[in-house]
Amino acid sequence: MLKITEIFFSLQGEARDAGRPTVFIRLTGCPLRCTYCDSEYAFFGGEWMHFDDILAETARHPARHVCVTGGEPLAQKRCLQLLEQLCDAGYAVSLETSGAIDVSPVDERVSRVVDLKTPDSGEADRNLWSNLGTLGPHDQLKFVICSRGDYEWAREQITGRSLADLCEVLVSPAWGQQDPTQLAEWVLADGLPVRMQLQLHKLLWGDEPGK
Ligand code: SF4
Repeated sequence: MLKITEIFFSLQGEARDAGRPTVFIRLTGCPLRCTYCDSEYAFFGGEWMHFDDILAETARHPARHVCVTGGEPLAQKRCLQLLEQLCDAGYAVSLETSGAIDVSPVDERVSRVVDLKTPDSGEADRNLWSNLGTLGPHDQLKFVICSRGDYEWAREQITGRSLADLCEVLVSPAWGQQDPTQLAEWVLADGLPVRMQLQLHKLLWGDEPGK
């Protein structure tokens, strides 16, 4: 069983699959407390669900893509089994994770979207740098940028560690904190090898749970 906050059908708002109809499985709980967190409602509560029930609820929706998110989904160890079962069921599966927990045991069919926490997130000390060595072209690294200082820190990691050679690198402005146009201009001025993204679901529906 896993503790689940919500299962819902929406458009993927971020990363490489942005815009695709996707079933989101949001697991309850997170050991981090990022300053910009938009899913605090997933820290506590939730409902215990059997794997069969999670898969049945997922199958109710007309989607090929499934995103397992949180919270920090890997904080529940049985998340690994769920990922495997979703892949076996034929879904294209992505995992959104904080980057604070080892991602190496994740089924290799899963596209891992791993955060690198910036200084202004308040959780940069939690970055598990060994995760970088496990990433491949199928995966993605994500920086949420809150300020010019965060941008410069991210730029240093991206260029100094040649992160774009490992996998796709995403940067997105922290909602309501970092002006997106300014971030776009910084990226262009530096010719940074990243994909900038806006959170599509927030542009469409605002900052609402279950969207
Ligand atoms: S890792 Fe994600 S869910 Fe956890 S506090 Fe940070 S933003 Fe929120």
